[in-house]
Amino acid sequence: MGLINDELAEVRKMCEHVVPGSKLVTCVPAMVRIEIRKTDFKQLAACFQFPADYPRSVILLELKSKTLSDKLLAGLVKLCEAEAKKLIGKPQLLALAKFVSRFLDENPLSCCSAELSRVRQLLADSDELKLKQKVSTVSLSLRSGEYQYRAHLLVPGDYPLQRVTVEERWSNLPATLCRWLTGQATEIARRCVEPPLRPPRNAPPFQPQPSLEPVVAFLVEDFKRFPTDLCQHCKKVALPADPADVVEDGGADLHVERVYCGHLYHFGCLVQYMKTPPFDGGKKCELCGKRIFHEKYKVSPQLAEARWAQEQARERELGEVIDFLQ
Ligand SMILES: [Zn+2]
Ligand SMILES: [Zn+2]
Repeated sequence: MGLINDELAEVRKMCEHVVPGSKLVTCVPAMVRIEIRKTDFKQLAACFQFPADYPRSVILLELKSKTLSDKLLAGLVKLCEAEAKKLIGKPQLLALAKFVSRFLDENPLSCCSAELSRVRQLLADSDELKLKQKVSTVSLSLRSGEYQYRAHLLVPGDYPLQRVTVEERWSNLPATLCRWLTGQATEIARRCVEPPLRPPRNAPPFQPQPSLEPVVAFLVEDFKRFPTDLCQHCKKVALPADPADVVEDGGADLHVERVYCGHLYHFGCLVQYMKTPPFDGGKKCELCGKRIFHEKYKVSPQLAEARWAQEQARERELGEVIDFLQ
C-alpha cells in the first residue's frame, strides 16, 4: 500500500499542474478520478483503479464522456494500456493522465469521431477520406465515373459550435457545377450553426448542430449523381462521359446548366425550351415542374410571349419570301 499512497500523494500535488485542463475529483486508494476538459465538447473523465499487484501489472483505466464517442474512448483506452505496459514496475497514473490530455490536444478531430464513422459508411471503395489531425482537417476525395471532386473540410477548435469550412481542392466537373457544390455545402454547414432569420412558430430554441456529417452526406449524394444526370430537355446524359470534353464556354450549346430546382439542362436545350410556348406562369422544369429561375433568363412570361410572337412573324415572313421564290 505504501507505493500506492506515495503515488496518490504525488497525484494530489502535481496533477492539475502537469496535466493541462485537468481537475482531480477523487483521489483515494480505491479510485482516482480525473476530469480533463479541453472544450465543452472535448472533455472526459478518467477513472483509475489499482490492481492487487500494482505496479507489477498495468493500472485499470475507464474513460467516460458525454460528448466523445464510445468508439474513440475504447481506442484511447487501448493506447493507454500499451503506454502503461511500458511503465510496469513504476508509477503509471500521472503519466497516463498526461498521455490522455496530450491525445486530445493532438487529435482535434476526436470531437467528431462518431460523425466520421457514420460518414465513412456513405463512401464507396473508390472514395477516400483522410484525417489530418495536425491541421484539424478532413480530406475528402469523391469519384463518380471519370469525374472527381476533392475538398478539405476544416474542423474549428470550438466545433460543433462553429461550422466546418469547405475548401474545394480539385475537380474535373465544369467550374459552374463545382462552385455550386462547394457553395451549397457551405450553406448547409452555415444552417447547422446559425439560427434561421425567421424561425418557424413554436420552434424550440435554436441549438447549433454538428455540420460535418450533413456536409459530406450532401456532397456525396449530389456529386455522385451529376455524371449520370440527364438534360431534362433532350433526355440525354448532360455531362460528357470523358471529363476532357467538358464545355466551359457558357454560351455553347453543350455547356451544362443547373437550374433552380437542381436539374440539369444543356445551354442550347434550355435556350430552345425557354423560347418555346407555353409561357403562362413562367417556364417550368420539364421534370419536376418547378419554375425555372436562371440568371440568364430574367424574362417575364409576357416578354417571352412577345418575343415568341415576333419570331413566329419573322419566320412567316421568311416563309412567304421562300414561297415567293419558288
Ligand atoms: Zn440537352
Ligand atoms: Zn427540375
